[in-house]
Amino acid sequence: MAGILALDVGGTKIAAGLVDPDGSLIYTATLPTRAAEGTEVVWAVVAELIGNVLQRAGGRVDAVGIGSAGPIDVAAGTVSPVNIEGWRGFALRDRVAAAVPGVPVRLGGDGVCMALAEHRYGAGRGTRSMLGMVVSTGVGGGLVLDGTPVLGRTGNAGHVGHVVVDPDGDRCRCGGRGCVETIASGPSMVRWALAHGWSPETPLADAKALGAAAEAGDPVALRAFRRGTDALAVMIASVGAVCDLDLVVIGGGVAKSGALLFGPLHEALAERARLDFLVGLQVVPAGLGGDAGLVGAAALTMLR
Ligand SMILES: [Zn+2]
Repeated sequence: MAGILALDVGGTKIAAGLVDPDGSLIYTATLPTRAAEGTEVVWAVVAELIGNVLQRAGGRVDAVGIGSAGPIDVAAGTVSPVNIEGWRGFALRDRVAAAVPGVPVRLGGDGVCMALAEHRYGAGRGTRSMLGMVVSTGVGGGLVLDGTPVLGRTGNAGHVGHVVVDPDGDRCRCGGRGCVETIASGPSMVRWALAHGWSPETPLADAKALGAAAEAGDPVALRAFRRGTDALAVMIASVGAVCDLDLVVIGGGVAKSGALLFGPLHEALAERARLDFLVGLQVVPAGLGGDAGLVGAAALTMLR
């Protein structure tokens, strides 16, 4: 078997890989998305990465799996990533199929890909129903229920960043209000901390600096994290009630803050998730790291 060509399309970078049928990543390459430079420039980045992988694979692969930032439309094969403005209803699946003719091409959301990868190969192995989510510059996710990834009508099921946790909260970039992403994403926590008197010691006021400040006991930074984790707990309790989950797996930059995130999150969840079937819902760090998107995109091609 020649292997599976996997693509992971994000607003900052695009990754491509060659993945074994057993899920191991044989080769990977990453390039900046160049999102501000227009529709065809971004496509040229994808085309270059496809060329790299095909060359590495000896000119032939068995299938192509694409994970993309959303929103996407699986039925139409199009993607409209929020952070790639030149791609609105972009026919990514057909473009990739034309570049790699004669093999099946599957498209899925990046959240579903991450959840699928963690379920098959990572922290979610052996579970039946799990939410895989990423907390970084945004909050994303995907669901595997009863062992099967859930796509929904358009492929966007599990978009948990836009679960409303505060009906009167701030405007979200989705156009709604009070979504968990407006409180718990890295930039949201940083914005709140800055507005409440946090003065970073480093020139860059980002989530990493905020995490360091919280570790050092800065009260505003600690409150920002507590506020973010409360919002995540409200969302997880809600999604858990809807989906009757075994496990929640959290990856992404903010999740790398470890106990700073998971400590208060477990406490907040214990307080809010009180139904019998929710008590003891496990919330754990992701097992796979940044390659989960590629591995999950490849796994898409193995689904029936
Ligand atoms: Zn939203």
